[in-house]
Amino acid sequence: MAQDKSPSRYTITAALPYTNGPIHIGHLAGVYVPADIYSRYLRLKGNDVAFVCGSDEHGVAISMKAKKEGVTPTEIIDKYHHIIKKSFVDFGISFDNYSRTSAKVHHDTASEFFKKMYEQGDFIEEETEQLYDDEAAQFLADRFVIGTCPRCGHEEAYGDQCENCGSSLNATDLINPKSTITGTVPSLKKTKHWFLPLDRYEGFLKKWILEEHKSDWKPNVYGQCKSWIDEGLKPRAVTRDLDWGIPVPVAGGEGKVLYVWFDAPIGYISSTKEWAEREGKDWEPYWKNEDTKLVHFIGKDNIVFHCIIFPSMLKANGDFILPDNVPANEFLNLEGNKLSTSKNWAVWLHEYLEEFPDMQDVLRYTLTANAPETKDNDFTWKDFQARNNNELVAIFGNFVNRVAVLTHKYYDGVVPAPSEFSETDLDTLKSLKGYPEILTNSLERYRFREGSQELMNLARLGNKYLAEAEPWKLIKTDEERVKTIMYVALQIAAGLAVLSEPFLPFTSEKLKGILNLSSNQNEKSIGWDDVSLKETLIPAGHTINKSELLFRKIEDKEIQQQLDKLEATKKINAQMDKEVPPQKDTITFDDFSKLDMRVGTIIEAEKMPKANKLLVLKVDTGLDTRTIVSGIANSFKPEDIVGKKVTVLVNLAPRKLRGVESEGMILMTEDKNGKLVFLNPDETEVSNGESIN
Ligand SMILES: [Zn+2]
Repeated sequence: MAQDKSPSRYTITAALPYTNGPIHIGHLAGVYVPADIYSRYLRLKGNDVAFVCGSDEHGVAISMKAKKEGVTPTEIIDKYHHIIKKSFVDFGISFDNYSRTSAKVHHDTASEFFKKMYEQGDFIEEETEQLYDDEAAQFLADRFVIGTCPRCGHEEAYGDQCENCGSSLNATDLINPKSTITGTVPSLKKTKHWFLPLDRYEGFLKKWILEEHKSDWKPNVYGQCKSWIDEGLKPRAVTRDLDWGIPVPVAGGEGKVLYVWFDAPIGYISSTKEWAEREGKDWEPYWKNEDTKLVHFIGKDNIVFHCIIFPSMLKANGDFILPDNVPANEFLNLEGNKLSTSKNWAVWLHEYLEEFPDMQDVLRYTLTANAPETKDNDFTWKDFQARNNNELVAIFGNFVNRVAVLTHKYYDGVVPAPSEFSETDLDTLKSLKGYPEILTNSLERYRFREGSQELMNLARLGNKYLAEAEPWKLIKTDEERVKTIMYVALQIAAGLAVLSEPFLPFTSEKLKGILNLSSNQNEKSIGWDDVSLKETLIPAGHTINKSELLFRKIEDKEIQQQLDKLEATKKINAQMDKEVPPQKDTITFDDFSKLDMRVGTIIEAEKMPKANKLLVLKVDTGLDTRTIVSGIANSFKPEDIVGKKVTVLVNLAPRKLRGVESEGMILMTEDKNGKLVFLNPDETEVSNGESIN
């Protein structure tokens, strides 16, 4: 419910990243940067905040990846948990706690949560028939079954979806289903599962979302919820037949685990518990008191789980508060194409930092300034360069650098005492004092993109003020006036140091260093509201430190390197996308031994007159020298292939091509660009006439 008075504490959650791969810019832009901006802002305002997250480590995808790679699921999750956690630290995502769903505290919390609901009669039990692999002695989750799509005939459709025609399927719909574990044909077997009857919560969801959050939830979130509710909610299984996950903690649950989507959001609660224990706090008020504001930051693919399913679970359980808002973002694309882990179409955070060391804030800023808040958006390297060079370097960096350099040049780094303020000075100082409210207004409505532009407007204000006041000219004629100008400019720089922290935490830290302001949050540091309330942010007589550049220009060459890298990825993907023809029918060894293939050498080659594709070759087969007509003229010039060792099928029945009798066939394949290549022995010592078997 939209709260009337300000909350006593905040619980901020960011979607648990799935540990089957590293983190890329889409994750950062969609979830983690906005959640971090919001949490940092709340802390600067002096609020009590628990900002929690953790790795999502259960589910079929991890189990499958482990089976495919021949390792244990633990090996997979350990690897990615550490990579992901490091990326978050590197990019300054200021979680109060980053946990993992394989942790004991989470297993206990999720089990208790399930048990309480079970005991309250919140589930329905149902027996269904599912595909079972007798050899592996296990039920087959959707992705463990492959077969022919009943809609389009694609032979490698998965049990939940056909990737060829995009149809969503049930594993039992597949024609000729096969287990991906053993390759055997699965049988149907009865199995019992527990379902959350979402239909029971329709009335509650209608009132809570469709009425009470009509105006404060984002239209994309509200719209998705409405269409789900309008379609009618059905019971949803919350358990799975799988050997990786949290065991179902009730009688009859042997060999079954909680569905990953049941346990994962409970991970927010577990992570809060872990944090509270470490900090010597009580976790319960953060999840149970009505004066707590709970906000879930997620991407749009998670809306239904966070707005419909998890709230129904919380409501059913009974002890918990509901989210106040779920500001889900749309998707970020990269250079016009959908981000994809499997196609490597991404900017990986760990790679970015290798290529642009210490430039976390440039990426944070670009992703925020161009955030997919209301619609899918595109990340382009050109835009990244322009945001950096034209905004961070030319406006923010330029202003701060001028202020610091001139303060040292004129006053040995000591903030001068102002004399009389002009009208422009007063207007400028008044504008500065207005910024906390302007930014608050954007951030409280989850408009981080707008907020980042307002922050840049404050830097613009400073830049413009200095450019118009021209202290570097006035210093020759009016030293007193310059003191006032520099004093005003220094106040703006100090305001920027504070207000930029949520957006540009590394830059804020550096700027506080330059201005010699306390960087820790203590009584000496300047808080968010101080920028409006304090008479002076950086007093006369205070000594600042030497200037250092906050941002550096990004050259065209660096951007081109990134574009080249993506172009190379595109080529590799095009090659992988090339369709591999299915295997032909089985033949016997006798069939095979009928083929007589020999090593030969091309001794003459010429174009077939009036035929574009054909070359007439004379080939020494070791048996004889014979004529073979071959359709390779598009790939080779005759003069380039004379002397080439080749493989020849010598007992193919002769046939006439354009009047020339061809006695055999030269074996060829194709490279990734469609050019023909010879299949030939890579040893030069092989003689003509050697047979291939
Ligand atoms: Zn299909």
